[in-house]
Amino acid sequence: MPPASAATGRPTKTTTRPRRGEGQWALGYREPLNKNEENKKNDDGLNVRRRIIDVYSKGGFDSIDPADLRGRFRWYGLYTQRAPGIDGGKTAVLEPEELDDRYFMMRIRTDGGQLSVAQLRAIAEVSTAYGRDTADITDRQNVQLHWLRIEDVPALWERIEGVGLSTTEACGDTPRGMLGCPLAGIAEDEVIDSTDDLRRIVEDHIGSPLFSNLPRKFKTAVDGCSVHCTNHEINDLAFVGVVGPDGTPGYDLFVGGGLSTNPMFAQRLGAFVRPDQVSEVWAGVCSIFRDYGYRRLRHRARIKFLVKDWGAAKFREVLEKEYLGYALPDGPEPVLDPGTRRDHVGVHRQKDGRFYVGFTPRVGRVSGTKLGRVADIAEAHGSDRVRTTADQKLVILDITEDRVESVVAALEAEDLLVRPSTFRRQTMACTGIEFCKLAIVETKDRASALIDELERRLPEFTDPLTININGCPNACARTQTADIGFKGQLVTDADGNQVEGFQVHLGGGLGLQAGFGRKVRGLKTTADELPDYVERVLRRFLDQKEDGEVFAA
Ligand code: SF4
Repeated sequence: MPPASAATGRPTKTTTRPRRGEGQWALGYREPLNKNEENKKNDDGLNVRRRIIDVYSKGGFDSIDPADLRGRFRWYGLYTQRAPGIDGGKTAVLEPEELDDRYFMMRIRTDGGQLSVAQLRAIAEVSTAYGRDTADITDRQNVQLHWLRIEDVPALWERIEGVGLSTTEACGDTPRGMLGCPLAGIAEDEVIDSTDDLRRIVEDHIGSPLFSNLPRKFKTAVDGCSVHCTNHEINDLAFVGVVGPDGTPGYDLFVGGGLSTNPMFAQRLGAFVRPDQVSEVWAGVCSIFRDYGYRRLRHRARIKFLVKDWGAAKFREVLEKEYLGYALPDGPEPVLDPGTRRDHVGVHRQKDGRFYVGFTPRVGRVSGTKLGRVADIAEAHGSDRVRTTADQKLVILDITEDRVESVVAALEAEDLLVRPSTFRRQTMACTGIEFCKLAIVETKDRASALIDELERRLPEFTDPLTININGCPNACARTQTADIGFKGQLVTDADGNQVEGFQVHLGGGLGLQAGFGRKVRGLKTTADELPDYVERVLRRFLDQKEDGEVFAA
């Protein structure tokens, strides 16, 4: 019996079953072809919540079933963090359990980066109460906590769920936290206010068993922003604001983007989606991934491989015929921004005459205490709305003109800069070896030190420039789309020792300059030489640059 379409309820069509399958359900491969698929078949990841509350939080770490610990916990945003003191050389050679700490990192869903002051306070409180005051803003607009004990998870959930937050499907083979423009509904120049369309997808589908067993993670962006700040080019599915054929705003569809070790840009389907169709079209695309996505090999289990093999035309045809049951009209392409800054940093006017203030923590690292201060500052200046961005930044909305400078001063006193240097503004770093079990090198502290060094050495450099530092090839902080991307690996230093270092990717970008950075053979730097390397590259650029030229290595 073929699987039923979640979008329409009708059975989906199957085509001839190839001899060697990729584990595609729609072609009849329902038997698990690897351990991950077996675990998901044995028990839905969503069911682990009950066990965390009733069993594991009472029995402690040692009571946790390994299949839950290393699998289903992710369905609620929980990973074991890396045990301290294990160097990057052991990442690939140790068994997973040897890398496990007894503490957890947790992602809290903040779809569209939307937080009220009460929600921010709740996150601040659980961070200080249970997470040793840790908090990182991720480039998926989530907040990530560390050092959590399983015993404290139910109380943590109670606190954040009391203010409407959740960790459901924040990780795992699920529709993870969805990106949205932090200025949706307030930006003067937005194409469409995507707030309700994004909210409807979350309300309709998150936590549904229809989408809790996908081949792998599924990243969504819904974006009506004029600068395309959610980076639709590298999401699994993106709705991008356009003005439709009849003059009313809606969305253009992009499918199959993603970075990691096989980077691909999303393909444009050329179909126009009305706002009232967004949730249904989202379900259709996600159902195609569930039913036709490759499940045999984990590294091919992202939708981008299916989109690459099918092409945009076939993907659209299957979406319309097998899942939606109607054709979508052709639509226009979005107008791409020529700039490279999509981060909404600085002070800008809203469409209602008030102002938003975007500011920069260091490479996304804050703390519970600092988030509490942000909540205080927002509230003291009459705002109840704070946003996270896809560039590890934060924004306070709804400030009246006469209070803007007071907000700026209060934030800058917390080292949350509203008018930062290029280096502070556009350097990102992933979690790295401090907490991540896949990491080979340390990232956050190194990136922070790099910012300080570059500000000291090159105060004259003010051009847009993205520097993205990643602890391994997985590219969580977007190695390949930075002007200068660093991929963590072990390298050989001048004395012949294996030390932490980076492969360099040069000249990546999104928007009109979209392209993956060139991985120049042999172009590597040790971590200690990182500031010298970047300084050399930028000085060469400054020496040779022509009028109006921006950095493109
Ligand atoms: Fe971990 Fe690698 Fe992702 Fe960094 S890029 S967070 S080291 S998996």
